[in-house]
Amino acid sequence: MNVQLATERRPKPARTRSAGPRRGGRAAPSPRGGTTAAPTRTCAGCGQRAAQHEVLRWVHAGEGGASPGASSLPPVTIDLKGGARGRGAWVHPRIECLDKAARHGFSRSFRIRVDVSTEQLLEQIRAAAERRLAGLIHAARASRALIFGRDSVREKSAVASLVLLAADSPSLSNAPFVTELGARGRLVIWGTKERYGTWMGRGDVAILAIMEHGLATRIAQTLALLNLAPQTVSGCGAADIVSEVR
Ligand SMILES: [Zn+2]
Repeated sequence: MNVQLATERRPKPARTRSAGPRRGGRAAPSPRGGTTAAPTRTCAGCGQRAAQHEVLRWVHAGEGGASPGASSLPPVTIDLKGGARGRGAWVHPRIECLDKAARHGFSRSFRIRVDVSTEQLLEQIRAAAERRLAGLIHAARASRALIFGRDSVREKSAVASLVLLAADSPSLSNAPFVTELGARGRLVIWGTKERYGTWMGRGDVAILAIMEHGLATRIAQTLALLNLAPQTVSGCGAADIVSEVR
């Protein structure tokens, strides 16, 4: 099978939001001349095609402005938001795909030898996911879609989209309302009371709830990314909950 690996010829123009009516049904021309209804990308690890939101974009550092060999920066950098300059390659957020991409997938995609380790890729995913998570938590708080503290969360637990319980709160994990949230697939045990406290600008915070579905889904997806890098994960369940929140 002749696997065509995903590389972009040039950065895509920034998407502009128009106030006017959308032209329905018009598919964008693909780089190969056909038309595609939804953007798909080929994973540089396993070679399978995937919807664009299912794969992570990586940019070759040599093309993004950094001069190659000038620093100890990794040769590929994650582009979690999308739209970073430079030629991109796409990889599933899975250890096996990252492994294959690190070994030979990136080199094939970028048509240049890329020396990067799976650990370096995981480290970048972790750092980017941490930043995104903090941003989403702040967005949730700013839009009043976040409540925290045992009593507040218990009161609203029936309508919470996602509840985060600090992994160092073992006593709370046995509370009936928490058990019930777990049974409904709305609970993630992750992080520490200190971290939640920092997010909330308080002392220790053991539990918080996201009350808005879209934000909850993005937070669960981000936690699943953090689950890829085992050394940062305290607790479990983030990966399991993604399908529940969707
Ligand atoms: Zn893959």
